[in-house]
Amino acid sequence: IYILGIESSCDETAASVVKNGTEIVSNVVASQIESHKRFGGVVPEIASRHHVEQITVVIEEALKQANIQPADLNAVCVTEGPGLVGALLIGINAAKAFSFAHGLPLIGVHHIAGHIYANALVQPMKFPLLALVVSGGHTELVLMKEDGNFELIGETRDDAAGEAYDKVARVLNIPYPGGPQIDRLAHESDGEVDFPRVWLEPDSYDFSFSGLKSAVINYKHNADQRGEVINPMHVAKGFQDSVVEVLTAKTLRAARQYNVKQVIAAGGVSANKGLRDALTATFNKEGIPFYVPPLKLCTDNAAMIAAAGTSMFKAGKRSDLTLNGRPGLELLSWNK
Ligand code: ATP
Ligand code: MG
Ligand code: FE
Repeated sequence: IYILGIESSCDETAASVVKNGTEIVSNVVASQIESHKRFGGVVPEIASRHHVEQITVVIEEALKQANIQPADLNAVCVTEGPGLVGALLIGINAAKAFSFAHGLPLIGVHHIAGHIYANALVQPMKFPLLALVVSGGHTELVLMKEDGNFELIGETRDDAAGEAYDKVARVLNIPYPGGPQIDRLAHESDGEVDFPRVWLEPDSYDFSFSGLKSAVINYKHNADQRGEVINPMHVAKGFQDSVVEVLTAKTLRAARQYNVKQVIAAGGVSANKGLRDALTATFNKEGIPFYVPPLKLCTDNAAMIAAAGTSMFKAGKRSDLTLNGRPGLELLSWNK
C-alpha cells in the first residue's frame, strides 16, 4: 500500500509517501519558522500564505523523491484538524484536487493520530499501548487497546507542554520556537531554580502547566524589580526538570495501571532530550519497552499523517469532497 500524506495544520508544509504504513519512501517538510520568528509565534495569515506558495512544490517533490506516479498510489491522506483553519484548508484543498484528478480515495486524518503513528514508522506498535502526546497544542495520555482505537485518559487543563516551553522562552528572550533552546540551556546549566511541580489530584492523569509558567514569569519579574539579572540557564533547567518530572511520573503510573506492552512518546516536545532521557531511563528500569521517534518525526511532518492514514485506509475509512478543515477536531477511534 502506497499512501500520499499531506500536512499543513500549522507552520510546516509537508508531503510524504509511505509504504505499508511503516516505511518512509519520501518525506518533504518546508518549515516557515524563519518567517514567524520575528513575531514570536505563528501568525495564521502568514502561515496560510506560505502554505499556498509551498504546497504544490512540496507534493511534487515528495512524489519525485519517491519516484512514484500518482497511479501507483492507493490513497491520499490529509490532516483534517486540529490546527489553524486557514492553514488546514490549503492542504485539504490540494488533497481534494489530487484525489479527484487521479481518482484516488481521500482520507481526512487527525493530526494527533498522526503524531502517535509516527511511531509506526520506527517499530511495530504493540497493544495495549500508552502514548504520551506532548506538542505545541496538546499534552495528553492516550491509551490504545488496539490499532486505531484511542482512549483519552488524561489531558492538560490549561497550557500544553510545548506552549509552556514557547512562553517561558519568550520570558528568557529566546526566539520562537523556544523548546530546543531551553532544552540546550538546561543541559549546559550548572545550577537550577526550584520551581513547583503541579500534580493535581493524586489519581488524576491530567496536567497543568500554566502555574509553572506563571512561576517563571514571577521569578523574572521579581528579579527585574530588584534590579537583579537572572541566570537563564538556571531558569531553563528548573523549568525543564519540573515539566519532565511530572510528565514522566504520570506516564509511569498510567503504564502500570493499564498494564501496557509498550509506551511511546509523540509530538514536538518529545524531541526534548531531557524528556527522552528521563522516559528511557524510567521505562528501562520498569522493564516496559519505550519508544520515541527520531527528532524529524517528532515535529510536524506528513509521513506521520500517511502512517495513520494507512491504518484508516485498511479499516475502510474514506472522506468525500465535503471534507473541511476542523480546528477543534476530536480524536475518534476508527477501530472500535
Ligand atoms: P499540535 O501538534 O498540538 O497541533 P504543533 O503541531 O504546533 O501542535 P508540534 O509541531 O508537534 O506542535 O511541536 C511544536 C512544539 O514542540 C513547539 O512548542 C516547540 O517549542 C516544541 N519543541 C520542539 N522541540 C523541542 C524540544 N527539544 N524541547 C521542548 N520542546 C520542543
Ligand atoms: Mg510547527
Ligand atoms: Fe503537531
